[in-house]
Amino acid sequence: MRIARFSIDGNVAFGAVEGEGTVESGGLVLDIIKGIPYTDFELSGTKVPLSKVRLLPPVLPNKVVAIGRNYAEHAAELGNEVPDVPVAFFKPTTSVIGSGDAIEYPSFSNELHHEAELAVVIGRMCREVPRERVKDVVFGYTCANDVTARDAQQREKQWARAKGFDTSCPLGPWVETGMSIAAASDLTIQATVNGEQRQLGRTSDMIRSIEDLVVHITEAMTLLPGDVILTGTPAGVGPLNVGDEVAVTIEGIGTLTNKVIKRG
Ligand code: MG
Repeated sequence: MRIARFSIDGNVAFGAVEGEGTVESGGLVLDIIKGIPYTDFELSGTKVPLSKVRLLPPVLPNKVVAIGRNYAEHAAELGNEVPDVPVAFFKPTTSVIGSGDAIEYPSFSNELHHEAELAVVIGRMCREVPRERVKDVVFGYTCANDVTARDAQQREKQWARAKGFDTSCPLGPWVETGMSIAAASDLTIQATVNGEQRQLGRTSDMIRSIEDLVVHITEAMTLLPGDVILTGTPAGVGPLNVGDEVAVTIEGIGTLTNKVIKRG
């Protein structure tokens, strides 16, 4: 099932996405969900065309934990070694936006980059998850863009500003809940800018697997329903300019599209 979060006439709801097509092509319908998707819920049978709503980030995370340098070719393109221990950092909840929302070019940067990433959405509170239980805590998958002020990342020892500014975490367009970990671990992932391909990889090229990352992160901290793990980006990162439209597409999940605007 594909679960979106949206607003219509000032009301916010979750809905199951039905039909074939994309956000852009139309033809999709939302069956409004009664309850919260992570727990028991039912479909109301009340349907609205997706073209009539504003999509919101599909989850409201308590935290977004991101992993750096998880694809060897991407680490190499920035002159970095693959780390012995996964590099983990946070993106604040205030950085999260949905598909169709604008990325605001930050005032302190002259080098903004896209990073297409598979996002793992957590479905239940968990800590110290054993490898064989990871499947029980994953709710589903969505597309992410770990938008990065590359110059600030290189200048500043911690990445809180470079990767944590407002609008730096597009997520969406919805969460795909019907995919096994094995399936999610072998998907095409790509980024285009103004329709031109920039990044193309496969999630099977991740150095640390989805299971590895959940084990590693929950060794340290409790994850809550709706929390998100960004799993790293394949090679091909590159600049975003004001006016650009960046799209992250993951096979079997969907396309996350955002425009870059000047702030203010
Ligand atoms: Mg990244």
